[in-house]
Amino acid sequence: MHFWIHTFTGKKHMRIFAIGRNYAEHIKELNNERPDEPVIFTKPDTAILKNGSPFYYPDFSKDIHHEIELVLKISKEGKNIEEKFASKYFDSIGLGIDFTARDLQQKAKDKGLPWDIAKGFNSSAPLSDKFIPVGEFKNLSDINFKLEVDGETKQQGNTSLMLFSFNYIIAYLSKFFTLRAGDLIFTGTPKGVGPIHIGNKLVGYLENEKLLEFEVK
Ligand code: MG
Repeated sequence: MHFWIHTFTGKKHMRIFAIGRNYAEHIKELNNERPDEPVIFTKPDTAILKNGSPFYYPDFSKDIHHEIELVLKISKEGKNIEEKFASKYFDSIGLGIDFTARDLQQKAKDKGLPWDIAKGFNSSAPLSDKFIPVGEFKNLSDINFKLEVDGETKQQGNTSLMLFSFNYIIAYLSKFFTLRAGDLIFTGTPKGVGPIHIGNKLVGYLENEKLLEFEVK
């Protein structure tokens, strides 16, 4: 009996959902097709790298790319959420990097196979500790963010350039997956993705606030 009680009250883990191909200029740089619906993939929670911790370059890839992204934090449970109510389901926005082993991803794409190892490996999701409450933004359709590598701006995005809005993404995702408080949604990367190298220092900004900072070792 005790076993069953334990099972049903067990802690639910947050999930990481991610959107691919959500910025037109980034689709062009990778020669991808523009999607009719959001491209969805997931990362396990073991992918999270706490802000400030070094990223250790793994030996299974020779071509890991940075993809700076805005990250939504889901604030209440919902499924089949209508787009017009979707804004009630996230309460804050943080900054993350969707590290991608481009060589492994290309191999999978060539064979029409899933991307999991290319996207979900350990520490593939550096994440800001700080999430900014939605109420602090003047306009969610005009948020700036950027990534600097060794002091040079490599990626610069604005939410006005997204193909699918935050609300559309939440409505679409929740058709397939029940969203729960604490879940994270990586909302896609703007153009300028590129390889990282050992010794690089990566710094991410949401508007003018530095939210991410770590080294590649
Ligand atoms: Mg991405």
